[in-house]
Amino acid sequence: MEPQKLLVVDDEAVFCKVIWAVLTDLGFDVTTETDAHRVQPLLKRGDFDVLLLDLHMPGLDGMDLIESIRHDDSVLPIIVVTGDNSSESTVEAMRRGATDFVAKPVEGSLLDLRIRRAFDLEHSRRLANTDGLTGLYNHRHLQERLRQEVDRARRYGRPLSVVMADIDHFKDFNDTYGHPCGDEALIAVSDTLRKVGRTPDIVARYGGEEFLLVLPETDLSNAQVVAERARQCVEALGLPGASQGKPLTLSLGIAELSAQDIVQVCAKSSLIRRADEALYAAKRGGRNRIALAASRLDNFAPDLDGDSGAIPVANPSTLQ
Ligand code: GH3
Ligand code: MG
Ligand code: MG
Repeated sequence: MEPQKLLVVDDEAVFCKVIWAVLTDLGFDVTTETDAHRVQPLLKRGDFDVLLLDLHMPGLDGMDLIESIRHDDSVLPIIVVTGDNSSESTVEAMRRGATDFVAKPVEGSLLDLRIRRAFDLEHSRRLANTDGLTGLYNHRHLQERLRQEVDRARRYGRPLSVVMADIDHFKDFNDTYGHPCGDEALIAVSDTLRKVGRTPDIVARYGGEEFLLVLPETDLSNAQVVAERARQCVEALGLPGASQGKPLTLSLGIAELSAQDIVQVCAKSSLIRRADEALYAAKRGGRNRIALAASRLDNFAPDLDGDSGAIPVANPSTLQ
Protein backbone atom coordinates (compact mmCIF):
# COMPACT_ATOMS: atom_id res chain seq x y z
CA MET A 1 0.00 0.00 0.00
CA GLU A 2 1.11 3.50 -0.84
CA PRO A 3 0.16 6.86 0.73
CA GLN A 4 -1.92 9.02 -1.60
CA LYS A 5 -4.16 11.52 0.16
CA LEU A 6 -2.30 14.09 2.25
CA LEU A 7 -3.65 16.85 4.48
CA VAL A 8 -1.27 19.76 5.10
CA VAL A 9 -2.15 22.17 7.89
CA ASP A 10 -0.16 25.40 8.27
CA ASP A 11 -1.35 28.91 9.11
CA GLU A 12 0.96 30.44 6.47
CA ALA A 13 -0.88 30.52 3.15
CA VAL A 14 2.37 30.96 1.21
CA PHE A 15 3.89 27.84 2.79
CA CYS A 16 0.71 25.91 1.94
CA LYS A 17 1.00 26.99 -1.71
CA VAL A 18 4.65 25.96 -1.95
CA ILE A 19 4.21 22.60 -0.26
CA TRP A 20 1.07 21.91 -2.31
CA ALA A 21 3.15 22.38 -5.50
CA VAL A 22 6.05 20.22 -4.21
CA LEU A 23 3.84 17.34 -3.05
CA THR A 24 1.52 17.45 -6.07
CA ASP A 25 4.62 17.23 -8.27
CA LEU A 26 5.62 14.11 -6.35
CA GLY A 27 2.27 12.56 -7.31
CA PHE A 28 0.30 12.99 -4.07
CA ASP A 29 -3.32 14.14 -3.81
CA VAL A 30 -2.91 17.17 -1.54
CA THR A 31 -5.41 19.21 0.50
CA THR A 32 -4.15 22.27 2.38
CA GLU A 33 -5.77 24.07 5.32
CA THR A 34 -4.66 27.25 7.09
CA ASP A 35 -7.20 27.10 9.94
CA ALA A 36 -6.08 24.56 12.54
CA HIS A 37 -9.55 24.51 14.09
CA ARG A 38 -10.81 22.76 10.98
CA VAL A 39 -8.34 19.84 11.13
CA GLN A 40 -10.46 17.43 13.14
CA PRO A 41 -13.68 17.90 11.15
CA LEU A 42 -11.63 17.51 7.95
CA LEU A 43 -10.00 14.32 9.23
CA LYS A 44 -13.42 12.88 10.10
CA ARG A 45 -14.66 13.38 6.55
CA GLY A 46 -11.47 13.08 4.56
CA ASP A 47 -10.01 9.58 4.71
CA PHE A 48 -6.47 10.99 4.63
CA ASP A 49 -3.39 8.73 4.54
CA VAL A 50 -0.97 11.19 6.17
CA LEU A 51 -1.31 14.47 8.08
CA LEU A 52 1.45 17.10 7.89
CA LEU A 53 0.97 19.52 10.74
CA ASP A 54 2.57 22.82 11.72
CA LEU A 55 3.31 22.98 15.44
CA HIS A 56 2.80 26.71 16.05
CA MET A 57 -0.52 28.10 14.94
CA PRO A 58 -2.48 31.05 16.32
CA GLY A 59 -5.10 30.40 18.97
CA LEU A 60 -4.26 26.74 19.37
CA ASP A 61 -1.77 24.58 21.22
CA GLY A 62 -0.17 22.29 18.61
CA MET A 63 0.78 19.69 21.25
CA ASP A 64 -2.79 19.44 22.55
CA LEU A 65 -4.02 19.14 18.98
CA ILE A 66 -1.66 16.21 18.28
CA GLU A 67 -2.82 14.46 21.44
CA SER A 68 -6.46 14.98 20.60
CA ILE A 69 -6.06 13.75 17.00
CA ARG A 70 -4.15 10.71 18.28
CA HIS A 71 -6.91 9.97 20.78
CA ASP A 72 -9.47 9.91 17.93
CA ASP A 73 -7.30 7.91 15.53
CA SER A 74 -4.57 5.72 16.97
CA VAL A 75 -2.87 4.96 13.63
CA LEU A 76 -3.05 8.11 11.49
CA PRO A 77 0.52 9.02 10.43
CA ILE A 78 1.18 12.53 11.79
CA ILE A 79 4.31 14.36 10.62
CA VAL A 80 5.10 17.59 12.40
CA VAL A 81 6.51 20.14 9.96
CA THR A 82 7.98 22.97 11.96
CA GLY A 83 10.37 25.88 11.99
CA ASP A 84 10.96 25.18 15.68
CA ASN A 85 13.87 22.74 15.66
CA SER A 86 14.38 22.61 19.41
CA SER A 87 14.82 19.05 20.54
CA GLU A 88 12.42 19.68 23.48
CA SER A 89 9.43 20.39 21.26
CA THR A 90 10.29 17.53 18.91
CA VAL A 91 10.47 15.07 21.78
CA GLU A 92 7.24 16.48 23.25
CA ALA A 93 5.43 16.21 19.89
CA MET A 94 6.51 12.58 19.47
CA ARG A 95 5.58 11.81 23.07
CA ARG A 96 2.09 13.24 22.47
CA GLY A 97 1.61 10.98 19.43
CA ALA A 98 3.35 12.44 16.35
CA THR A 99 4.87 9.77 14.11
CA ASP A 100 7.79 11.87 12.86
CA PHE A 101 8.93 15.46 12.34
CA VAL A 102 10.51 17.42 9.49
CA ALA A 103 12.23 20.78 9.91
CA LYS A 104 11.44 23.77 7.70
CA PRO A 105 12.54 24.64 5.10
CA VAL A 106 11.40 21.34 3.63
CA GLU A 107 13.12 19.59 0.74
CA GLY A 108 10.98 17.53 -1.66
CA SER A 109 12.81 14.19 -1.80
CA LEU A 110 13.39 14.11 1.98
CA LEU A 111 9.73 14.90 2.63
CA ASP A 112 8.69 12.17 0.17
CA LEU A 113 10.83 9.63 2.04
CA ARG A 114 9.53 10.65 5.47
CA ILE A 115 5.89 10.54 4.30
CA ARG A 116 6.36 6.98 2.99
CA ARG A 117 8.19 5.89 6.15
CA ALA A 118 5.52 7.33 8.47
CA PHE A 119 2.81 5.65 6.41
CA ASP A 120 4.58 2.25 6.49
CA LEU A 121 5.14 2.51 10.23
CA GLU A 122 1.52 3.30 11.07
CA HIS A 123 0.27 0.75 8.51
CA SER A 124 2.24 -2.03 10.26
CA ARG A 125 0.93 -0.78 13.58
CA ARG A 126 -2.60 -0.93 12.19
CA LEU A 127 -2.08 -4.53 11.03
CA ALA A 128 -0.74 -5.50 14.45
CA ASN A 129 -3.66 -3.89 16.27
CA THR A 130 -6.65 -4.95 14.20
CA ASP A 131 -8.49 -8.15 13.46
CA GLY A 132 -7.94 -9.39 9.90
CA LEU A 133 -11.56 -10.37 9.20
CA THR A 134 -13.54 -7.47 10.66
CA GLY A 135 -11.04 -4.60 10.84
CA LEU A 136 -12.03 -4.02 14.48
CA TYR A 137 -9.35 -3.71 17.16
CA ASN A 138 -8.01 -7.10 18.21
CA HIS A 139 -7.90 -8.59 21.69
CA ARG A 140 -4.28 -7.59 22.34
CA HIS A 141 -4.79 -3.94 21.42
CA LEU A 142 -8.06 -3.85 23.33
CA GLN A 143 -6.28 -4.88 26.53
CA GLU A 144 -3.81 -2.03 26.14
CA ARG A 145 -6.48 0.59 25.37
CA LEU A 146 -8.78 -0.59 28.14
CA ARG A 147 -5.94 -0.38 30.64
CA GLN A 148 -5.32 3.24 29.56
CA GLU A 149 -9.01 4.11 29.83
CA VAL A 150 -9.32 2.49 33.27
CA ASP A 151 -6.27 4.46 34.45
CA ARG A 152 -7.72 7.70 33.07
CA ALA A 153 -11.17 7.08 34.60
CA ARG A 154 -9.61 6.33 38.00
CA ARG A 155 -7.21 9.27 37.92
CA TYR A 156 -9.83 11.87 37.00
CA GLY A 157 -12.82 10.19 38.68
CA ARG A 158 -14.65 9.90 35.35
CA PRO A 159 -17.25 7.27 34.38
CA LEU A 160 -16.27 4.37 32.13
CA SER A 161 -18.47 1.54 30.89
CA VAL A 162 -17.96 -1.57 28.81
CA VAL A 163 -20.45 -3.59 26.78
CA MET A 164 -19.79 -7.26 26.01
CA ALA A 165 -21.83 -8.42 23.00
CA ASP A 166 -22.23 -11.93 21.66
CA ILE A 167 -24.11 -13.14 18.56
CA ASP A 168 -26.97 -15.46 19.45
CA HIS A 169 -26.93 -19.06 18.23
CA PHE A 170 -24.05 -18.39 15.88
CA LYS A 171 -22.94 -21.99 15.79
CA ASP A 172 -26.35 -22.89 14.34
CA PHE A 173 -25.99 -20.04 11.82
CA ASN A 174 -22.69 -21.54 10.58
CA ASP A 175 -24.19 -25.02 10.51
CA THR A 176 -27.16 -23.76 8.48
CA TYR A 177 -25.53 -21.33 6.02
CA GLY A 178 -21.85 -22.30 6.05
CA HIS A 179 -18.72 -20.70 7.46
CA PRO A 180 -18.17 -18.16 4.62
CA CYS A 181 -21.68 -16.75 5.22
CA GLY A 182 -20.85 -16.70 8.93
CA ASP A 183 -17.78 -14.59 8.14
CA GLU A 184 -19.91 -12.14 6.15
CA ALA A 185 -22.36 -11.88 9.03
CA LEU A 186 -19.47 -11.14 11.41
CA ILE A 187 -18.31 -8.34 9.11
CA ALA A 188 -21.84 -6.87 8.89
CA VAL A 189 -22.28 -6.97 12.68
CA SER A 190 -18.82 -5.39 13.17
CA ASP A 191 -19.62 -2.54 10.77
CA THR A 192 -22.84 -1.91 12.66
CA LEU A 193 -21.14 -1.87 16.07
CA ARG A 194 -18.52 0.55 14.76
CA LYS A 195 -21.31 3.00 13.85
CA VAL A 196 -23.35 2.93 17.07
CA GLY A 197 -20.86 4.67 19.32
CA ARG A 198 -19.05 8.01 19.38
CA THR A 199 -15.51 8.67 18.14
CA PRO A 200 -13.66 8.01 21.42
CA ASP A 201 -15.41 4.67 21.87
CA ILE A 202 -13.30 1.58 21.25
CA VAL A 203 -14.87 -1.36 19.45
CA ALA A 204 -12.98 -4.65 19.48
CA ARG A 205 -13.45 -8.25 18.45
CA TYR A 206 -13.00 -9.92 21.80
CA GLY A 207 -13.13 -13.48 20.51
CA GLY A 208 -14.91 -15.53 17.79
CA GLU A 209 -18.39 -13.96 17.76
CA GLU A 210 -17.88 -11.79 20.85
CA PHE A 211 -17.27 -8.06 20.82
CA LEU A 212 -16.32 -5.53 23.48
CA LEU A 213 -17.29 -1.85 23.36
CA VAL A 214 -15.31 0.44 25.66
CA LEU A 215 -17.23 3.65 26.34
CA PRO A 216 -15.18 6.41 28.03
CA GLU A 217 -17.06 9.21 29.85
CA THR A 218 -20.16 7.00 29.88
CA ASP A 219 -22.14 5.87 32.89
CA LEU A 220 -24.30 2.77 33.11
CA SER A 221 -27.51 4.40 31.92
CA ASN A 222 -25.86 6.02 28.88
CA ALA A 223 -24.10 2.73 28.10
CA GLN A 224 -27.52 1.11 28.21
CA VAL A 225 -28.67 3.48 25.44
CA VAL A 226 -25.66 2.56 23.26
CA ALA A 227 -26.13 -1.16 23.89
CA GLU A 228 -29.83 -0.99 23.08
CA ARG A 229 -29.04 0.89 19.85
CA ALA A 230 -26.53 -1.86 18.95
CA ARG A 231 -29.09 -4.55 19.70
CA GLN A 232 -31.76 -2.87 17.57
CA CYS A 233 -29.40 -2.11 14.66
CA VAL A 234 -28.14 -5.70 14.47
CA GLU A 235 -31.69 -7.03 14.56
CA ALA A 236 -32.65 -4.50 11.84
CA LEU A 237 -29.85 -5.80 9.59
CA GLY A 238 -32.30 -8.57 8.83
CA LEU A 239 -29.63 -11.23 8.47
CA PRO A 240 -31.41 -14.57 8.52
CA GLY A 241 -31.12 -16.28 11.89
CA ALA A 242 -30.59 -19.98 12.35
CA SER A 243 -34.24 -20.61 13.12
CA GLN A 244 -36.51 -19.79 10.20
CA GLY A 245 -38.18 -16.39 10.07
CA LYS A 246 -36.07 -14.88 12.85
CA PRO A 247 -33.25 -12.41 12.25
CA LEU A 248 -29.74 -12.80 13.64
CA THR A 249 -29.52 -11.08 17.04
CA LEU A 250 -27.11 -10.01 19.77
CA SER A 251 -27.13 -10.40 23.54
CA LEU A 252 -25.27 -7.74 25.50
CA GLY A 253 -23.93 -7.34 29.04
CA ILE A 254 -23.03 -3.93 30.45
CA ALA A 255 -20.80 -2.96 33.37
CA GLU A 256 -19.65 0.43 34.66
CA LEU A 257 -16.27 0.78 36.38
CA SER A 258 -16.99 0.87 40.10
CA ALA A 259 -15.17 1.17 43.41
CA GLN A 260 -15.56 -2.57 43.67
CA ASP A 261 -13.48 -3.09 40.48
CA ILE A 262 -10.85 -0.67 41.65
CA VAL A 263 -10.11 -2.61 44.85
CA GLN A 264 -9.55 -5.81 42.83
CA VAL A 265 -6.00 -6.87 41.88
CA CYS A 266 -6.82 -6.02 38.27
CA ALA A 267 -9.63 -3.46 37.80
CA LYS A 268 -9.73 -4.12 34.06
CA SER A 269 -10.32 -7.88 34.49
CA SER A 270 -12.92 -7.27 37.17
CA LEU A 271 -14.83 -4.88 34.87
CA ILE A 272 -14.74 -7.35 31.95
CA ARG A 273 -15.77 -10.22 34.21
CA ARG A 274 -18.84 -8.32 35.41
CA ALA A 275 -19.83 -7.44 31.81
CA ASP A 276 -19.40 -11.09 30.87
CA GLU A 277 -21.58 -12.21 33.79
CA ALA A 278 -24.25 -9.75 32.67
CA LEU A 279 -23.97 -11.10 29.12
CA TYR A 280 -24.68 -14.60 30.38
CA ALA A 281 -27.67 -13.27 32.32
CA ALA A 282 -28.95 -11.82 29.01
CA LYS A 283 -28.46 -15.22 27.38
CA ARG A 284 -30.31 -16.96 30.19
CA GLY A 285 -33.03 -14.34 30.06
CA GLY A 286 -33.86 -15.41 26.49
CA ARG A 287 -31.20 -13.73 24.23
CA ASN A 288 -31.69 -10.67 21.94
CA ARG A 289 -31.60 -8.44 25.04
CA ILE A 290 -29.31 -6.45 27.29
CA ALA A 291 -28.50 -6.99 30.96
CA LEU A 292 -26.75 -4.75 33.46
CA ALA A 293 -24.04 -5.99 35.80
CA ALA A 294 -25.04 -5.86 39.45
CA SER A 295 -23.37 -2.88 41.10
CA ARG A 296 -21.97 -5.07 43.87
CA LEU A 297 -20.56 -8.53 43.31
CA ASP A 298 -21.87 -9.78 46.64
CA ASN A 299 -25.40 -9.09 45.35
CA PHE A 300 -24.78 -11.52 42.57
CA ALA A 301 -26.54 -14.82 43.12
CA PRO A 302 -25.41 -17.71 40.96
CA ASP A 303 -28.11 -18.84 38.59
CA LEU A 304 -29.09 -22.29 39.76
CA ASP A 305 -32.61 -22.50 38.47
CA GLY A 306 -32.51 -20.83 35.10
CA ASP A 307 -33.60 -17.29 35.90
CA SER A 308 -31.27 -14.33 35.76
CA GLY A 309 -30.31 -14.16 39.47
CA ALA A 310 -29.87 -10.69 40.99
CA ILE A 311 -28.88 -9.09 37.71
CA PRO A 312 -31.66 -6.91 36.34
CA VAL A 313 -32.40 -7.92 32.77
CA ALA A 314 -33.61 -4.96 30.76
CA ASN A 315 -36.71 -5.49 28.74
CA PRO A 316 -35.83 -4.32 25.20
CA SER A 317 -39.31 -2.97 24.59
CA THR A 318 -39.01 -0.48 27.47
CA LEU A 319 -35.78 1.12 26.21
CA GLN A 320 -35.70 3.65 23.44
P1 GH3 B 1 -25.03 -18.47 22.15
O1 GH3 B 1 -26.32 -17.85 21.72
O2 GH3 B 1 -25.15 -19.17 23.46
O3 GH3 B 1 -23.89 -17.49 22.13
O4 GH3 B 1 -24.72 -19.62 21.08
P2 GH3 B 1 -23.59 -19.66 20.00
O5 GH3 B 1 -23.90 -20.77 19.06
O6 GH3 B 1 -23.44 -18.30 19.35
O7 GH3 B 1 -22.29 -19.92 20.86
P3 GH3 B 1 -21.15 -20.99 20.73
O8 GH3 B 1 -20.06 -20.51 21.65
O9 GH3 B 1 -21.69 -22.37 20.96
O10 GH3 B 1 -20.67 -20.93 19.24
C1 GH3 B 1 -19.94 -19.85 18.72
C2 GH3 B 1 -19.80 -20.05 17.25
O11 GH3 B 1 -19.13 -18.95 16.61
C3 GH3 B 1 -19.01 -21.30 16.89
C4 GH3 B 1 -17.97 -20.83 15.92
O12 GH3 B 1 -17.88 -21.68 14.81
C5 GH3 B 1 -18.45 -19.46 15.49
N1 GH3 B 1 -17.35 -18.60 15.10
C6 GH3 B 1 -16.36 -18.11 15.88
N2 GH3 B 1 -15.49 -17.39 15.13
C7 GH3 B 1 -15.93 -17.42 13.85
C8 GH3 B 1 -15.44 -16.90 12.62
O13 GH3 B 1 -14.40 -16.22 12.54
N3 GH3 B 1 -16.17 -17.14 11.50
C9 GH3 B 1 -17.31 -17.89 11.55
N4 GH3 B 1 -17.98 -18.09 10.42
N5 GH3 B 1 -17.77 -18.42 12.69
C10 GH3 B 1 -17.11 -18.21 13.83
MG1 MG C 1 -22.82 -16.67 20.57
MG1 MG D 1 -19.52 -16.74 22.31
